[in-house]
Amino acid sequence: MLYFNVIIYIIIFISGTASSLTSDEIKAVQYLKKYGYFDGQSDTAPCNFDKVILENALKVFQSIAGLSVTGALDEATLNIINGHRCGMKDFGKYYNVHDVDMGSITWSKKNVTFAVTKYPSYLRADVTDDILMKAFGFMSKHINMIFTNVLYAPDIEIQFVKSIKRNNYTSFDEGSHVTAVSTVPGILGKIYINDEIEWSVKNKKGFSLFRTAVHQIGHILGLGHGNFTSIMSPFVGIQHEFNELKSSDDALNILQTAYESLPKKSSLCSAKSIDTIFFTRSYQYLYVFIDKYFWKMDSNRDKIEFPKLISEKWKELIGPVDAGYQDENGWTYIFMGTHMWKYFGNNLEDGYPMKINEVFSNGPEEVFSD
Ligand SMILES: [Zn+2]
Repeated sequence: MLYFNVIIYIIIFISGTASSLTSDEIKAVQYLKKYGYFDGQSDTAPCNFDKVILENALKVFQSIAGLSVTGALDEATLNIINGHRCGMKDFGKYYNVHDVDMGSITWSKKNVTFAVTKYPSYLRADVTDDILMKAFGFMSKHINMIFTNVLYAPDIEIQFVKSIKRNNYTSFDEGSHVTAVSTVPGILGKIYINDEIEWSVKNKKGFSLFRTAVHQIGHILGLGHGNFTSIMSPFVGIQHEFNELKSSDDALNILQTAYESLPKKSSLCSAKSIDTIFFTRSYQYLYVFIDKYFWKMDSNRDKIEFPKLISEKWKELIGPVDAGYQDENGWTYIFMGTHMWKYFGNNLEDGYPMKINEVFSNGPEEVFSD
Protein backbone atom coordinates (compact mmCIF):
# COMPACT_ATOMS: atom_id res chain seq x y z
CA MET A 1 0.00 0.00 0.00
CA LEU A 2 2.83 2.33 0.88
CA TYR A 3 4.48 1.46 -2.43
CA PHE A 4 1.24 2.31 -4.28
CA ASN A 5 0.98 5.65 -2.45
CA VAL A 6 4.53 6.54 -3.42
CA ILE A 7 3.73 5.77 -7.07
CA ILE A 8 0.59 7.95 -6.89
CA TYR A 9 2.61 10.75 -5.27
CA ILE A 10 5.27 10.57 -7.99
CA ILE A 11 2.59 10.64 -10.70
CA ILE A 12 0.92 13.66 -9.07
CA PHE A 13 4.28 15.37 -8.61
CA ILE A 14 5.33 14.81 -12.22
CA SER A 15 1.96 15.82 -13.67
CA GLY A 16 1.86 18.79 -11.29
CA THR A 17 5.27 20.00 -12.45
CA ALA A 18 4.44 19.41 -16.10
CA SER A 19 1.19 21.34 -15.92
CA SER A 20 2.71 24.22 -13.95
CA LEU A 21 3.62 25.92 -17.24
CA THR A 22 0.84 26.91 -19.59
CA SER A 23 1.08 26.19 -23.29
CA ASP A 24 1.96 29.88 -23.89
CA GLU A 25 4.71 29.67 -21.28
CA ILE A 26 6.12 26.53 -22.89
CA LYS A 27 6.09 28.39 -26.20
CA ALA A 28 7.91 31.31 -24.54
CA VAL A 29 10.53 28.95 -23.10
CA GLN A 30 11.13 27.42 -26.54
CA TYR A 31 11.46 30.88 -28.08
CA LEU A 32 13.79 32.29 -25.42
CA LYS A 33 15.87 29.11 -25.49
CA LYS A 34 16.26 29.39 -29.26
CA TYR A 35 17.51 32.97 -29.00
CA GLY A 36 20.03 32.29 -26.24
CA TYR A 37 18.34 33.55 -23.07
CA PHE A 38 18.96 30.46 -20.92
CA ASP A 39 22.60 30.10 -20.14
CA GLY A 40 23.22 26.57 -18.78
CA GLN A 41 19.54 25.58 -19.01
CA SER A 42 19.60 24.30 -22.54
CA ASP A 43 19.10 20.65 -21.55
CA THR A 44 15.97 21.26 -19.45
CA ALA A 45 12.76 20.24 -21.22
CA PRO A 46 10.48 23.27 -21.74
CA CYS A 47 7.63 21.69 -19.72
CA ASN A 48 9.94 21.22 -16.70
CA PHE A 49 11.23 24.76 -16.73
CA ASP A 50 11.53 26.67 -13.50
CA LYS A 51 9.02 29.53 -13.47
CA VAL A 52 11.45 31.90 -11.75
CA ILE A 53 14.08 31.32 -14.45
CA LEU A 54 11.43 31.97 -17.12
CA GLU A 55 10.31 35.13 -15.32
CA ASN A 56 13.88 36.47 -15.16
CA ALA A 57 14.46 35.71 -18.85
CA LEU A 58 11.17 37.43 -19.74
CA LYS A 59 12.32 40.54 -17.86
CA VAL A 60 15.50 40.71 -19.98
CA PHE A 61 13.45 40.10 -23.14
CA GLN A 62 10.90 42.78 -22.22
CA SER A 63 13.65 45.27 -21.53
CA ILE A 64 15.22 44.69 -24.96
CA ALA A 65 11.80 44.90 -26.61
CA GLY A 66 10.91 48.16 -24.84
CA LEU A 67 7.96 46.62 -22.97
CA SER A 68 6.98 46.98 -19.30
CA VAL A 69 9.46 44.84 -17.39
CA THR A 70 7.18 42.61 -15.32
CA GLY A 71 8.41 39.08 -16.00
CA ALA A 72 4.80 38.17 -16.77
CA LEU A 73 3.83 36.66 -20.08
CA ASP A 74 1.31 39.37 -20.93
CA GLU A 75 -0.34 40.07 -24.28
CA ALA A 76 2.26 42.59 -25.44
CA THR A 77 5.08 40.14 -24.73
CA LEU A 78 3.26 37.32 -26.52
CA ASN A 79 2.69 39.59 -29.54
CA ILE A 80 6.42 40.11 -29.91
CA ILE A 81 7.13 36.40 -29.38
CA ASN A 82 4.60 35.52 -32.08
CA GLY A 83 5.79 38.28 -34.43
CA HIS A 84 8.49 38.42 -37.08
CA ARG A 85 12.10 38.91 -36.04
CA CYS A 86 15.71 38.49 -37.14
CA GLY A 87 16.85 34.87 -36.86
CA MET A 88 20.16 35.66 -35.13
CA LYS A 89 20.40 35.00 -31.41
CA ASP A 90 20.14 37.81 -28.87
CA PHE A 91 22.77 36.13 -26.70
CA GLY A 92 25.27 33.49 -27.71
CA LYS A 93 28.64 32.57 -29.06
CA TYR A 94 29.20 35.57 -31.30
CA TYR A 95 26.74 38.21 -30.27
CA ASN A 96 25.36 39.57 -27.04
CA VAL A 97 22.99 42.48 -26.74
CA HIS A 98 25.07 45.57 -25.87
CA ASP A 99 28.17 43.44 -25.36
CA VAL A 100 29.68 42.96 -28.75
CA ASP A 101 33.34 42.11 -28.89
CA MET A 102 34.07 43.22 -32.41
CA GLY A 103 37.84 43.16 -32.10
CA SER A 104 38.18 39.56 -33.19
CA ILE A 105 35.39 39.53 -35.76
CA THR A 106 35.71 42.45 -38.15
CA TRP A 107 36.55 42.72 -41.83
CA SER A 108 40.22 43.42 -42.25
CA LYS A 109 39.84 45.11 -45.66
CA LYS A 110 38.18 48.41 -46.45
CA ASN A 111 36.86 47.54 -49.91
CA VAL A 112 34.20 44.87 -49.72
CA THR A 113 32.10 43.65 -52.66
CA PHE A 114 28.57 42.30 -52.64
CA ALA A 115 26.08 40.67 -55.02
CA VAL A 116 22.62 39.19 -54.96
CA THR A 117 23.08 35.60 -56.14
CA LYS A 118 19.46 34.56 -55.68
CA TYR A 119 16.78 37.18 -56.27
CA PRO A 120 13.40 37.33 -54.52
CA SER A 121 10.33 35.92 -56.20
CA TYR A 122 8.25 38.94 -55.14
CA LEU A 123 10.47 41.90 -56.17
CA ARG A 124 12.10 42.81 -59.48
CA ALA A 125 15.85 42.23 -59.64
CA ASP A 126 16.68 45.87 -60.46
CA VAL A 127 14.51 47.14 -57.58
CA THR A 128 16.20 44.64 -55.24
CA ASP A 129 19.67 45.73 -56.38
CA ASP A 130 18.72 49.36 -55.86
CA ILE A 131 17.51 48.81 -52.28
CA LEU A 132 20.56 46.77 -51.35
CA MET A 133 22.90 49.39 -52.79
CA LYS A 134 21.13 51.99 -50.66
CA ALA A 135 21.44 49.76 -47.58
CA PHE A 136 25.19 49.24 -48.05
CA GLY A 137 25.52 52.95 -48.81
CA PHE A 138 23.70 53.76 -45.58
CA MET A 139 26.35 51.94 -43.56
CA SER A 140 29.16 53.26 -45.71
CA LYS A 141 28.19 56.85 -44.91
CA HIS A 142 29.34 56.36 -41.34
CA ILE A 143 32.46 54.20 -41.54
CA ASN A 144 35.64 54.08 -43.50
CA MET A 145 34.56 51.20 -45.73
CA ILE A 146 33.49 51.01 -49.36
CA PHE A 147 30.95 48.50 -50.66
CA THR A 148 30.76 47.77 -54.36
CA ASN A 149 28.12 45.80 -56.23
CA VAL A 150 29.79 43.23 -58.49
CA LEU A 151 28.54 40.49 -60.78
CA TYR A 152 30.94 37.71 -59.83
CA ALA A 153 32.85 36.42 -56.79
CA PRO A 154 31.51 38.84 -54.18
CA ASP A 155 32.78 39.04 -50.62
CA ILE A 156 29.19 39.19 -49.41
CA GLU A 157 26.55 37.08 -51.08
CA ILE A 158 22.84 37.81 -50.62
CA GLN A 159 20.23 35.15 -51.29
CA PHE A 160 16.45 35.18 -50.97
CA VAL A 161 15.43 31.70 -49.81
CA LYS A 162 12.36 30.07 -48.27
CA SER A 163 14.50 28.19 -45.73
CA ILE A 164 18.16 27.74 -44.92
CA LYS A 165 20.01 25.26 -42.75
CA ARG A 166 23.67 25.96 -42.14
CA ASN A 167 24.28 25.80 -38.42
CA ASN A 168 22.75 26.74 -35.10
CA TYR A 169 23.17 30.45 -35.91
CA THR A 170 22.34 30.57 -39.58
CA SER A 171 19.06 28.80 -40.23
CA PHE A 172 15.33 29.21 -40.58
CA ASP A 173 12.53 26.90 -41.67
CA GLU A 174 9.76 27.32 -44.19
CA GLY A 175 6.76 29.06 -42.63
CA SER A 176 8.86 30.61 -39.87
CA HIS A 177 8.60 34.21 -38.72
CA VAL A 178 12.30 34.82 -39.26
CA THR A 179 13.05 37.71 -41.60
CA ALA A 180 16.72 36.97 -42.30
CA VAL A 181 19.98 35.54 -40.96
CA SER A 182 23.65 36.22 -41.66
CA THR A 183 27.06 34.77 -41.16
CA VAL A 184 29.62 36.48 -38.94
CA PRO A 185 32.25 38.83 -40.46
CA GLY A 186 35.33 37.43 -42.06
CA ILE A 187 36.66 36.58 -45.46
CA LEU A 188 33.26 35.80 -46.98
CA GLY A 189 29.80 36.71 -45.77
CA LYS A 190 26.32 35.48 -46.56
CA ILE A 191 22.96 37.08 -45.92
CA TYR A 192 19.87 34.89 -46.30
CA ILE A 193 16.60 36.82 -46.55
CA ASN A 194 13.23 35.08 -46.18
CA ASP A 195 11.64 34.81 -49.63
CA GLU A 196 8.24 33.93 -48.16
CA ILE A 197 7.85 37.54 -47.00
CA GLU A 198 6.34 40.13 -49.33
CA TRP A 199 9.05 42.78 -48.95
CA SER A 200 8.16 46.42 -49.07
CA VAL A 201 10.32 48.85 -51.01
CA LYS A 202 9.30 51.68 -48.68
CA ASN A 203 11.26 52.45 -45.52
CA LYS A 204 8.20 52.32 -43.32
CA LYS A 205 6.87 50.06 -40.62
CA GLY A 206 6.33 46.52 -41.79
CA PHE A 207 8.57 44.37 -43.91
CA SER A 208 10.94 47.00 -45.21
CA LEU A 209 13.66 45.33 -47.27
CA PHE A 210 15.91 48.36 -46.80
CA ARG A 211 15.72 48.20 -43.01
CA THR A 212 16.18 44.42 -42.93
CA ALA A 213 19.18 44.71 -45.23
CA VAL A 214 20.79 47.44 -43.09
CA HIS A 215 20.24 45.26 -40.00
CA GLN A 216 21.81 42.20 -41.62
CA ILE A 217 24.74 44.24 -42.95
CA GLY A 218 25.19 45.27 -39.31
CA HIS A 219 25.59 41.58 -38.43
CA ILE A 220 27.95 40.99 -41.34
CA LEU A 221 30.08 43.86 -40.02
CA GLY A 222 30.07 42.31 -36.54
CA LEU A 223 27.22 43.98 -34.68
CA GLY A 224 25.04 42.03 -32.29
CA HIS A 225 21.46 42.85 -31.36
CA GLY A 226 20.60 46.11 -29.62
CA ASN A 227 17.51 47.36 -27.86
CA PHE A 228 14.24 48.52 -29.44
CA THR A 229 15.55 51.98 -30.38
CA SER A 230 18.51 50.64 -32.35
CA ILE A 231 18.71 49.60 -35.98
CA MET A 232 19.97 46.36 -34.47
CA SER A 233 16.69 45.62 -32.68
CA PRO A 234 15.81 42.01 -33.56
CA PHE A 235 12.05 42.65 -33.67
CA VAL A 236 10.30 43.81 -36.81
CA GLY A 237 6.90 45.00 -35.61
CA ILE A 238 8.16 47.61 -33.18
CA GLN A 239 10.95 49.14 -35.22
CA HIS A 240 10.64 52.76 -36.19
CA GLU A 241 11.23 54.29 -39.58
CA PHE A 242 14.77 55.55 -39.89
CA ASN A 243 16.87 57.33 -42.43
CA GLU A 244 20.02 57.97 -40.47
CA LEU A 245 21.93 56.19 -37.75
CA LYS A 246 21.21 58.16 -34.63
CA SER A 247 24.23 59.25 -32.61
CA SER A 248 22.49 57.74 -29.59
CA ASP A 249 22.42 54.33 -31.29
CA ASP A 250 25.08 52.07 -29.78
CA ALA A 251 25.47 50.48 -33.18
CA LEU A 252 27.03 53.66 -34.60
CA ASN A 253 29.62 54.00 -31.84
CA ILE A 254 30.55 50.32 -31.97
CA LEU A 255 30.90 50.42 -35.77
CA GLN A 256 33.03 53.55 -35.73
CA THR A 257 35.29 52.14 -33.03
CA ALA A 258 35.79 48.96 -35.03
CA TYR A 259 36.06 50.44 -38.53
CA GLU A 260 36.99 54.12 -37.96
CA SER A 261 34.90 57.09 -38.98
CA LEU A 262 34.99 58.55 -42.46
CA PRO A 263 38.39 59.92 -43.41
CA LYS A 264 38.77 63.62 -42.76
CA LYS A 265 38.07 65.89 -45.69
CA SER A 266 41.37 66.19 -47.45
CA SER A 267 42.84 69.04 -49.39
CA LEU A 268 42.54 68.69 -53.13
CA CYS A 269 46.13 69.86 -53.57
CA SER A 270 47.57 67.18 -51.28
CA ALA A 271 45.48 64.30 -52.67
CA LYS A 272 47.60 61.40 -53.92
CA SER A 273 45.14 60.48 -56.67
CA ILE A 274 41.66 61.29 -57.87
CA ASP A 275 38.91 58.86 -58.87
CA THR A 276 37.41 60.83 -61.73
CA ILE A 277 37.03 64.35 -63.10
CA PHE A 278 34.63 65.87 -65.62
CA PHE A 279 33.34 69.19 -66.96
CA THR A 280 29.68 70.11 -67.09
CA ARG A 281 28.21 71.25 -70.41
CA SER A 282 29.92 74.26 -72.02
CA TYR A 283 32.82 73.75 -69.59
CA GLN A 284 30.95 75.78 -67.02
CA TYR A 285 31.97 73.75 -63.96
CA LEU A 286 34.57 71.13 -63.12
CA TYR A 287 33.80 68.25 -60.79
CA VAL A 288 36.58 66.31 -59.04
CA PHE A 289 35.84 63.11 -57.14
CA ILE A 290 37.99 61.48 -54.46
CA ASP A 291 36.69 58.60 -52.36
CA LYS A 292 33.34 59.71 -50.86
CA TYR A 293 33.87 63.45 -51.56
CA PHE A 294 33.61 65.82 -54.51
CA TRP A 295 34.83 69.33 -55.32
CA LYS A 296 33.05 71.69 -57.73
CA MET A 297 34.95 74.54 -59.37
CA ASP A 298 33.93 77.35 -61.69
CA SER A 299 35.73 78.37 -64.86
CA ASN A 300 38.26 80.38 -62.83
CA ARG A 301 39.06 77.17 -60.88
CA ASP A 302 37.65 78.74 -57.74
CA LYS A 303 36.24 76.07 -55.52
CA ILE A 304 32.54 76.77 -55.02
CA GLU A 305 31.58 73.48 -53.35
CA PHE A 306 34.49 71.97 -51.47
CA PRO A 307 34.66 69.14 -50.49
CA LYS A 308 31.24 67.73 -49.88
CA LEU A 309 30.07 64.17 -49.40
CA ILE A 310 28.93 62.86 -52.78
CA SER A 311 25.74 61.68 -51.06
CA GLU A 312 24.90 65.27 -50.11
CA LYS A 313 24.41 66.20 -53.77
CA TRP A 314 23.36 62.87 -55.28
CA LYS A 315 21.72 61.10 -52.37
CA GLU A 316 21.75 57.69 -54.05
CA LEU A 317 25.55 57.73 -54.42
CA ILE A 318 28.24 57.10 -51.84
CA GLY A 319 31.42 56.76 -53.86
CA PRO A 320 34.05 56.13 -54.88
CA VAL A 321 33.01 57.03 -58.42
CA ASP A 322 34.70 55.15 -61.26
CA ALA A 323 33.80 57.57 -64.06
CA GLY A 324 31.36 60.33 -64.98
CA TYR A 325 30.41 62.82 -67.69
CA GLN A 326 27.74 65.35 -68.54
CA ASP A 327 26.20 65.54 -72.02
CA GLU A 328 25.17 68.64 -73.93
CA ASN A 329 21.62 68.43 -72.64
CA GLY A 330 22.78 68.58 -69.04
CA TRP A 331 22.32 64.90 -68.14
CA THR A 332 25.00 63.68 -65.74
CA TYR A 333 26.08 60.05 -65.96
CA ILE A 334 27.93 58.45 -63.05
CA PHE A 335 29.53 55.01 -63.17
CA MET A 336 30.23 52.96 -60.05
CA GLY A 337 30.97 49.25 -59.99
CA THR A 338 28.56 47.45 -62.30
CA HIS A 339 25.97 50.25 -62.43
CA MET A 340 25.30 53.59 -64.08
CA TRP A 341 23.28 56.46 -62.58
CA LYS A 342 21.66 59.18 -64.72
CA TYR A 343 20.88 62.56 -63.13
CA PHE A 344 19.42 65.89 -64.09
CA GLY A 345 20.65 68.23 -61.39
CA ASN A 346 20.24 66.28 -58.18
CA ASN A 347 17.36 64.16 -59.47
CA LEU A 348 17.86 60.56 -60.44
CA GLU A 349 16.08 59.59 -63.67
CA ASP A 350 13.39 56.91 -63.27
CA GLY A 351 14.69 53.40 -63.89
CA TYR A 352 18.24 54.18 -62.77
CA PRO A 353 20.69 52.93 -61.65
CA MET A 354 20.97 50.45 -64.49
CA LYS A 355 23.53 47.76 -65.02
CA ILE A 356 26.24 49.07 -67.34
CA ASN A 357 26.17 45.94 -69.49
CA GLU A 358 22.44 46.44 -70.07
CA VAL A 359 22.84 50.07 -71.15
CA PHE A 360 25.82 49.26 -73.36
CA SER A 361 24.92 45.75 -74.45
CA ASN A 362 27.43 45.84 -77.31
CA GLY A 363 30.29 47.14 -75.21
CA PRO A 364 33.54 45.21 -74.77
CA GLU A 365 33.09 42.53 -72.12
CA GLU A 366 36.36 43.31 -70.36
CA VAL A 367 35.12 46.84 -69.66
CA PHE A 368 31.51 46.22 -68.72
CA SER A 369 31.44 42.79 -67.11
CA ASP A 370 32.71 43.83 -63.68
ZN1 LIG B 1 19.59 40.50 -36.21
